[in-house]
Amino acid sequence: MKTPEQGVDEAVLALLRCPGCCGPLVPAEDPSKGLDCAGCAVRYPLRDGILILLPEEALPLA
Ligand SMILES: [Zn+2]
Repeated sequence: MKTPEQGVDEAVLALLRCPGCCGPLVPAEDPSKGLDCAGCAVRYPLRDGILILLPEEALPLA
């Protein structure tokens, strides 16, 4: 049983694509923070264990 603190399950991660560029997503350095897209330089946040995979909710990466 996964908890939100562990981030997105690897099997789920393998199926996900960035809604902006259809590229692969990688876990943030702290996996509980969400998933990053290198191509778009954005982070899709993980809130209460729910991945917010929406371009308008994506956070710009520094
Ligand atoms: Zn992208």
